[in-house]
Amino acid sequence: MIIFPFAAIVGQEKMKRALVLNAISPQIGGVLIRGERGTAKSTAARALAALLPEIDVVEGCPFSCDPDLPETLCDDCRAKLVTERVLPRLKRRTQFVDLPVSATEDRVVGTLDIERAIKKGERHFEPGVLAAANRSLLYVDEVNLLDDHVVDLLLDSAAMGVNVVEREGISFSHPAQFILVGTMNPEEGELRPQLLDRFALCVEIKGILEAGQRVDIVRRRIAYEQDPVAFYAEWEAPEQALSRCIEQARLLLPEIKYTEGDLFTIAELTAEFEVDGHRADLVILKAALAQAAFEGRQTITHRDILLAAELALPHRLKKKPFQETQLQFERLEQRLEMNENGAVVDTAVQAPPDPLKKTGF
Ligand SMILES: [Zn+2]
Repeated sequence: MIIFPFAAIVGQEKMKRALVLNAISPQIGGVLIRGERGTAKSTAARALAALLPEIDVVEGCPFSCDPDLPETLCDDCRAKLVTERVLPRLKRRTQFVDLPVSATEDRVVGTLDIERAIKKGERHFEPGVLAAANRSLLYVDEVNLLDDHVVDLLLDSAAMGVNVVEREGISFSHPAQFILVGTMNPEEGELRPQLLDRFALCVEIKGILEAGQRVDIVRRRIAYEQDPVAFYAEWEAPEQALSRCIEQARLLLPEIKYTEGDLFTIAELTAEFEVDGHRADLVILKAALAQAAFEGRQTITHRDILLAAELALPHRLKKKPFQETQLQFERLEQRLEMNENGAVVDTAVQAPPDPLKKTGF
C-alpha cells in the first residue's frame, strides 16, 4: 500500500519538525501531538515511518538487533555471534508499530515463562510490543485513554532505550529504542501532568483556517485517493531528499559540539519561563543538536535552541493565565524572528512548490 507522502502534508510545520527531530535522535524521548480529530496526526506518523531510510537488522531476531552494534545485541544474537561468528543480516524499512489502546502491561513489555524456568531451568521470553518497536516508530493513538501504568512503562523504555522484565528473581532485557509518537484529543480527557512532562516534545495542532491551504489539503487528498502511484511519483523527489537528509543527520549527530555558553542560554530560557525540574533543559539541548544535524552543521546556534524550546516548553509551563503564556511565546517567536531576519521557516522540512498547481487541477 502506498502511504500518503510526508512531504505532501500541508502546513503543520511544528509537528513535522518535532517528528523529524525524533527520527534523527530517538533519544530526545518522543513527541506528543495534541489536537482535534482529522488534523493529520496519524497520517504524519505513518508517513514519517514510510520515508525513513532502510536499516540493517539481524535476520530472524524478534528485537531487530543492529548487526553493526555488538554491544546492543540481545542475548540470543550475542550467543549466535559467538558460535557462528557472523550474524545473518537483512535490510528493512522502519516499521510502524501501532499500540492498541487496550494494551496490557504483559502485551507491552512481553512475558517471562516462569513455569518453564522453574521446571526445566530454561529462560523463555515471549516478546511484546516493545520488542517489535525496537528501531521502529511506536505510535500510541489516544495515549490519554491508555492505562497510566502502561504509559509510564513506554516512557521509561523510550528514555532508557532498553526493556527490562523481571519476575520472581528472573530477569530478561532487550534493546527498545524507538521513535515514540503519542497523540491525543484533549476534548476526550487530559493526560496526568506527571506523564505529560515526560513526553520530551509536545505540539498542539489545530485545523488550518487559511483558505488556500485548505484547498491544497483537499486537492492533494483527492489526487492521492484517485491515483496513489502517480501521486507518490510527484512527491518522490522531496520525499527522498528528506529521507537522505535524515540519514546524514543521524551520522552527523554524534559529532555535533555545544559550548558552555549554549548551556547557559538554555538555562536562562527555562528559568525565564519558570519551568520546574531539569528535564526541559536536557530535552532542549538534545533537540537543538538534532536540529543542527538536520541542517548539516557541526555546532548549535541560538536559533536551534529557540526552535527546540518552542517544542519542549508548551506542556511544561506552570498553569498561568492563558494570555500570559501566550505573551511569553510571542516573545520567544520574536526572538526567533530576530535571529532569522524575519523568515521563521524551516525550509528543509517544508514541502516544495505544489506540483499539482501547475497542472491546474
Ligand atoms: Zn537480537
